[in-house]
Amino acid sequence: MMNRRNFLQRGSLAAAAVTVAPLAATAAPAKPALRVGFLSDVHVKPGAVPEEGMRRAFRHVNQYKPGVDFIINGGDAIMDALKASKEKVQQQWDVWNAALKAANKLPIYHCIGNHDAWGWQMTEPEVRQDPLFDKKWVLKQHDMPERYYSFDKTNWRFIVLDSAQENNGGYIARIDEPQFAWLEKELRDTPADMHICIVSHIPIVSFVSAVFSDKNEANGDWRISRALLHVDSRRLTDLFKSFPNIRCCLSGHIHMQDAVNYRGIQYYCNGAVSGNWWGGPFKDFAPAYAVFEFFKDGAVTRTMVDY
Ligand SMILES: [Zn+2]
Repeated sequence: MMNRRNFLQRGSLAAAAVTVAPLAATAAPAKPALRVGFLSDVHVKPGAVPEEGMRRAFRHVNQYKPGVDFIINGGDAIMDALKASKEKVQQQWDVWNAALKAANKLPIYHCIGNHDAWGWQMTEPEVRQDPLFDKKWVLKQHDMPERYYSFDKTNWRFIVLDSAQENNGGYIARIDEPQFAWLEKELRDTPADMHICIVSHIPIVSFVSAVFSDKNEANGDWRISRALLHVDSRRLTDLFKSFPNIRCCLSGHIHMQDAVNYRGIQYYCNGAVSGNWWGGPFKDFAPAYAVFEFFKDGAVTRTMVDY
């Protein structure tokens, strides 16, 4: 699909629009510092279509040419743990682990999706007492250091956030206070000559969050669900203003794709490996994953891959 490299070289849309032609004419084919597969919303569960689909996607990114350095799992690895019995959740993780074992050899970094949290919509009291309740199961399953964490590759720092918080029998998209304090410190502690990529399951800035639901502009005002876009977007993007080395934010969750440039940061929403939850394309977006190229100078490109 479309290679957006020229579009994304530098900060603002306006600047990019002016410089597209000369860049296209003169830029040498720079070698990226990193190439990363972003696979989100796999939503695997027992069954031929999801199991074979997940394997196909992972085999595809493992064979991607030129080679991918590692994978980021954007979250919602399994179909759903919010409202599933312990047995059903275990079956889903078993299928996920078997498919990874069969089809993936690349290092993989995980981000937690809302459907990866166990039991928020279960009414049985023993579920809340279970040591695997909430995000403890997914943390253990993915062997994650914490709900949110960072890692460095070349001169890039990747900051992985935990977007979905329990809220009245459902969830709300935001980071909690301890996580915000951690993020602030993490950004402050990142050397100015390192570039930053932030990963969150739910988008922080996005247009597809607005068009995910049908007829959500009934009275003329857009209504965007608390579950579809970070409700702390203003707070986060205000924080980001102090850190010009933040280059991009990557998300999944919406099962649709967009790329929005806001105040010099590129926000990419990256579709879903499962498409319409394994029922074909979702609102024109085929099952897909993204390949990102991160350059030494802070440039980023994305290629969507219909595997
Ligand atoms: Zn999802």
